[in-house]
Amino acid sequence: MPTVFEMIINGDIPSTKLYEDQLCLVILDINPVEKGHALVIAKKPYPVFTDCPDAELAHLMSIAKKVDLKLRSVLKCDGTNILINNDEASGQEIPHLHIHVIPRYKDDGQQFGFSKQKYEEGEIKEMGAKLCLN
Ligand code: AMP
Repeated sequence: MPTVFEMIINGDIPSTKLYEDQLCLVILDINPVEKGHALVIAKKPYPVFTDCPDAELAHLMSIAKKVDLKLRSVLKCDGTNILINNDEASGQEIPHLHIHVIPRYKDDGQQFGFSKQKYEEGEIKEMGAKLCLN
Protein backbone atom coordinates (compact mmCIF):
# COMPACT_ATOMS: atom_id res chain seq x y z
CA MET A 1 0.00 0.00 0.00
CA PRO A 2 1.64 3.29 -1.05
CA THR A 3 1.92 6.09 1.49
CA VAL A 4 0.12 9.40 1.00
CA PHE A 5 3.44 10.90 -0.03
CA GLU A 6 4.01 8.26 -2.71
CA MET A 7 0.55 9.04 -4.04
CA ILE A 8 1.41 12.75 -4.08
CA ILE A 9 4.76 12.11 -5.80
CA ASN A 10 3.02 9.92 -8.40
CA GLY A 11 0.41 12.62 -9.00
CA ASP A 12 -2.42 10.39 -7.79
CA ILE A 13 -3.57 12.92 -5.19
CA PRO A 14 -3.21 16.70 -5.27
CA SER A 15 -0.79 18.81 -3.28
CA THR A 16 0.43 22.38 -3.16
CA LYS A 17 3.90 22.04 -4.58
CA LEU A 18 6.66 24.55 -3.77
CA TYR A 19 9.61 22.81 -5.41
CA GLU A 20 10.59 19.59 -7.14
CA ASP A 21 13.79 17.99 -8.39
CA GLN A 22 15.00 14.44 -9.01
CA LEU A 23 15.44 13.63 -5.33
CA CYS A 24 12.71 15.51 -3.52
CA LEU A 25 9.41 17.29 -3.53
CA VAL A 26 8.45 20.20 -1.30
CA ILE A 27 4.76 20.72 -0.50
CA LEU A 28 2.67 22.63 2.00
CA ASP A 29 1.50 20.54 4.95
CA ILE A 30 -2.27 20.19 4.73
CA ASN A 31 -2.65 20.71 8.51
CA PRO A 32 0.02 23.28 9.31
CA VAL A 33 1.33 24.08 12.76
CA GLU A 34 1.62 27.60 11.29
CA LYS A 35 0.57 28.59 7.77
CA GLY A 36 3.45 28.00 5.37
CA HIS A 37 4.53 24.81 7.20
CA ALA A 38 6.32 22.89 4.46
CA LEU A 39 7.44 19.29 4.00
CA VAL A 40 10.61 18.33 2.14
CA ILE A 41 9.82 14.79 1.01
CA ALA A 42 12.35 12.30 -0.33
CA LYS A 43 11.19 10.95 -3.68
CA LYS A 44 12.35 7.44 -2.81
CA PRO A 45 10.13 5.90 -0.14
CA TYR A 46 12.68 5.56 2.67
CA PRO A 47 10.60 4.73 5.75
CA VAL A 48 13.02 6.34 8.21
CA PHE A 49 15.99 8.70 8.35
CA THR A 50 18.70 6.04 8.56
CA ASP A 51 17.45 4.32 5.40
CA CYS A 52 18.43 7.38 3.34
CA PRO A 53 21.99 7.58 1.94
CA ASP A 54 24.10 10.45 3.33
CA ALA A 55 24.36 12.34 0.03
CA GLU A 56 20.60 12.37 -0.36
CA LEU A 57 20.11 13.47 3.24
CA ALA A 58 22.54 16.32 2.63
CA HIS A 59 20.52 17.32 -0.42
CA LEU A 60 17.24 17.24 1.51
CA MET A 61 18.78 19.44 4.21
CA SER A 62 20.05 21.90 1.62
CA ILE A 63 16.52 22.20 0.24
CA ALA A 64 15.13 22.61 3.79
CA LYS A 65 17.58 25.50 4.14
CA LYS A 66 16.16 27.14 1.00
CA VAL A 67 12.64 26.67 2.36
CA ASP A 68 13.66 28.26 5.66
CA LEU A 69 15.08 31.31 3.84
CA LYS A 70 11.92 31.63 1.72
CA LEU A 71 9.64 31.43 4.76
CA ARG A 72 11.67 34.09 6.55
CA SER A 73 11.73 36.40 3.54
CA VAL A 74 8.09 36.03 2.45
CA LEU A 75 6.25 35.39 5.72
CA LYS A 76 8.64 37.42 7.89
CA CYS A 77 8.71 34.61 10.44
CA ASP A 78 11.22 35.03 13.26
CA GLY A 79 12.49 31.46 13.18
CA THR A 80 11.63 27.92 12.12
CA ASN A 81 11.50 24.44 13.55
CA ILE A 82 13.19 21.97 11.24
CA LEU A 83 12.39 18.47 12.32
CA ILE A 84 12.05 14.85 11.34
CA ASN A 85 9.67 12.55 13.15
CA ASN A 86 11.71 9.39 12.92
CA ASP A 87 9.74 6.15 13.32
CA GLU A 88 6.40 5.46 14.90
CA ALA A 89 7.50 5.97 18.51
CA SER A 90 8.48 9.55 17.71
CA GLY A 91 5.04 10.37 16.32
CA GLN A 92 5.82 9.75 12.64
CA GLU A 93 2.46 9.30 10.96
CA ILE A 94 3.62 8.71 7.41
CA PRO A 95 6.47 6.19 7.10
CA HIS A 96 8.16 7.99 4.23
CA LEU A 97 11.09 10.27 5.05
CA HIS A 98 10.23 13.97 5.17
CA ILE A 99 11.57 17.07 6.86
CA HIS A 100 9.15 19.54 8.42
CA VAL A 101 10.03 23.23 8.07
CA ILE A 102 7.68 25.16 10.32
CA PRO A 103 7.58 28.96 10.46
CA ARG A 104 7.70 30.36 13.98
CA TYR A 105 6.95 33.78 15.39
CA LYS A 106 7.92 35.42 18.64
CA ASP A 107 5.10 34.83 21.14
CA ASP A 108 3.19 32.54 18.75
CA GLY A 109 2.24 30.37 21.73
CA GLN A 110 3.29 27.16 19.97
CA GLN A 111 5.24 24.60 21.92
CA PHE A 112 6.41 21.01 21.74
CA GLY A 113 4.63 18.65 24.09
CA PHE A 114 7.92 17.30 25.45
CA SER A 115 8.43 17.13 29.19
CA LYS A 116 12.08 17.26 30.26
CA GLN A 117 13.74 14.77 32.60
CA LYS A 118 16.72 14.98 34.94
CA TYR A 119 19.76 12.68 35.15
CA GLU A 120 20.63 11.04 38.46
CA GLU A 121 24.08 11.76 39.91
CA GLY A 122 26.75 10.40 37.51
CA GLU A 123 24.20 9.13 35.02
CA ILE A 124 24.96 11.72 32.33
CA LYS A 125 28.59 10.58 32.24
CA GLU A 126 27.58 6.92 31.88
CA MET A 127 25.16 7.85 29.13
CA GLY A 128 27.86 9.89 27.38
CA ALA A 129 30.24 6.90 27.51
CA LYS A 130 27.58 4.52 26.14
CA LEU A 131 26.64 6.83 23.29
CA CYS A 132 30.07 8.11 22.37
CA LEU A 133 30.57 7.97 18.58
CA ASN A 134 34.35 8.12 18.32
P1 AMP B 1 4.71 12.99 10.37
O1 AMP B 1 3.91 12.89 11.63
O2 AMP B 1 6.09 13.55 10.59
O3 AMP B 1 4.69 11.70 9.59
O4 AMP B 1 3.99 14.11 9.50
C1 AMP B 1 3.11 13.86 8.46
C2 AMP B 1 2.56 15.20 8.03
O5 AMP B 1 1.94 15.05 6.78
C3 AMP B 1 1.51 15.78 9.00
O6 AMP B 1 1.96 17.05 9.48
C4 AMP B 1 0.26 15.90 8.13
O7 AMP B 1 -0.48 17.07 8.40
C5 AMP B 1 0.84 15.92 6.73
N1 AMP B 1 -0.05 15.42 5.69
C6 AMP B 1 -0.82 14.29 5.73
N2 AMP B 1 -1.50 14.14 4.57
C7 AMP B 1 -1.14 15.19 3.78
C8 AMP B 1 -1.49 15.60 2.46
N3 AMP B 1 -2.36 14.91 1.73
N4 AMP B 1 -0.93 16.74 1.98
C9 AMP B 1 -0.06 17.45 2.71
N5 AMP B 1 0.33 17.11 3.97
C10 AMP B 1 -0.22 16.00 4.49
